[in-house]
Amino acid sequence: MTAGMTAGSPPSSPPSQGGSQVCSPPRQSLRKRGSTKDSVGLYAVQCYKCYKWRMVPTKEEFETLRENFMEDPWFCSRRQDCSCDDPADLEYDNTRVWVMDKPNIPKPPPETERLVIMRRDFTKMDTYYVMPNGKRARCAGDVDKFLEAFPEYKDRISTSDFNFAPPKIVEETVSHNPSWIAAKAKKQDKADASSAQK
Ligand SMILES: [Zn+2]
Repeated sequence: MTAGMTAGSPPSSPPSQGGSQVCSPPRQSLRKRGSTKDSVGLYAVQCYKCYKWRMVPTKEEFETLRENFMEDPWFCSRRQDCSCDDPADLEYDNTRVWVMDKPNIPKPPPETERLVIMRRDFTKMDTYYVMPNGKRARCAGDVDKFLEAFPEYKDRISTSDFNFAPPKIVEETVSHNPSWIAAKAKKQDKADASSAQK
């Protein structure tokens, strides 16, 4: 991770993106198909006042913060023994791949897990839920199908609890990645080829 990187500038306005995730996908788990581990290795949240990034210890805590992020933004003072005067836990830079989540994504319903998986070429993330029967739901239609098959879950699980919006990949933090560069070049070639045909 050295030359040729574009420096990412930290957001200059209060974080509107909501909770954010830092993603440092372990290469091997990316390759494994049917893996139920998601690609996010670290969760972080930005203080609304000082803009410093603080680590969030667990995915569950992150999902709780994210759920009400708009009405209930995060401040360093919410953490015990922490104030805005303390140095940031981590810096927003391109030593890691960063992905930014949308705020106010509902917490996954009981017995389900929400996973976000980075594609191998780092161009996109995919969101899905592992349902109580172990199957994956990739869209609202899959959730409906599950509820049709298992109506006993209807009092606990509603389609509106699901949000498939994937986190946004921060381009500056992947733009030095060889897989990403290759995918981007391929896309550009395709675009050139199709415009040449016109
Ligand atoms: Zn702060």
